[in-house]
Amino acid sequence: MNNLLNYTLEELKVWMKENGESAFRAQQVFSWIYKGVNEFEGMKNISKPLVSKLKENFNIDLPKVIEVYKSEIDGTEKFLLGFEDGNLIESVLMRYKHGNSICISTQVGCAMGCKFCASTIEGKVRNLTTSEILSQVLTVQNFIKDRISNIVLMGSGEPLDNYDNVIKFLEVVSAEYGLNIGQRHITLSTCGIVPKIYELADKDFSITLAISLHAFSDEKRKEIMPIANKYSIKEILEACKYYIDKTNRRITFEYALVKGVNDGKEDARALGNLLKGMLCHVNLIPVNEIKENDFRRSSKKCIDDFSEILKNYGIEVTTRREMGSDINAACGQLRRSYMETQELEGSKKW
Ligand code: SAH
Repeated sequence: MNNLLNYTLEELKVWMKENGESAFRAQQVFSWIYKGVNEFEGMKNISKPLVSKLKENFNIDLPKVIEVYKSEIDGTEKFLLGFEDGNLIESVLMRYKHGNSICISTQVGCAMGCKFCASTIEGKVRNLTTSEILSQVLTVQNFIKDRISNIVLMGSGEPLDNYDNVIKFLEVVSAEYGLNIGQRHITLSTCGIVPKIYELADKDFSITLAISLHAFSDEKRKEIMPIANKYSIKEILEACKYYIDKTNRRITFEYALVKGVNDGKEDARALGNLLKGMLCHVNLIPVNEIKENDFRRSSKKCIDDFSEILKNYGIEVTTRREMGSDINAACGQLRRSYMETQELEGSKKW
């Protein structure tokens, strides 16, 4: 049975017509769903026969909220969500003065193999469907009884390795009939799957594209990111320029600073040379330390120096504040530690 969150308005209209109903019923059903009603019986203006027909064909299942962990340091809330097939994912909520922001996952696990990342340790389990990506926003929104206004696709998974589902998600989440979250308030982060960056640019969305660069040269990048064996930095930057030309949107480059690996002054200067003059912004991320590897965080002085050098190249730089360090907020950490405790207790399924 198909989840209605996989449908665009057009698609549901077609279904309505094929089933002898007026197309405008699709709009009515969607307004209930995106208001937070996820049972057909709760849709007051839908007739009983149509409710039965809908129930025979669709569900509006949301994942189960397994646990919510709240950081005592900064209030970040991490949601551990469980799907019907037993798979778990994480979504992180950050409440700011300007609104609620959510970091969502696009896959269970990840195939990209970045050395510093906890999500990828056991590879990719499966892609999330459009409804599963969307349902993270809906579930958390229903849970906190407040609107979410910003989305970052920076949880587990590589969004451009689940391209079709992610594109449909972007369409529905930003549509007026959907969650109506402005595309300018959505950021998609990728390790740099070049052909898909071109495809995304041609969609003419106004989302922000973030590229996980993490090194200034292919040689260095290959040491920490296997995807660098497939696409060069030169190819990524050409694709980024195409994206900027098409969308007029500024690109974000993410750079996780790892002690002794990519945090030297010469790295900063080389990165400055590489990016100067481009419509971009660099987000420095002090690496989140995970127990499965020995990548360590750069010192504060080192991060500040790195940032200053980039600024001298005329590049706008921000340093990401560490969020939720007490609740395993780094990608994939919570799911892993939860699964480990479950395994210890002899049960793999939540
Ligand atoms: N696959 C996508 C999006 C998910 S990861 C991507 O690669 O961009 C979101 C961001 O977190 C990426 O920039 C990723 O490189 C970074 N990241 C992953 N593990 C990290 C860690 N332990 N510390 C800091 N940043 C990390």
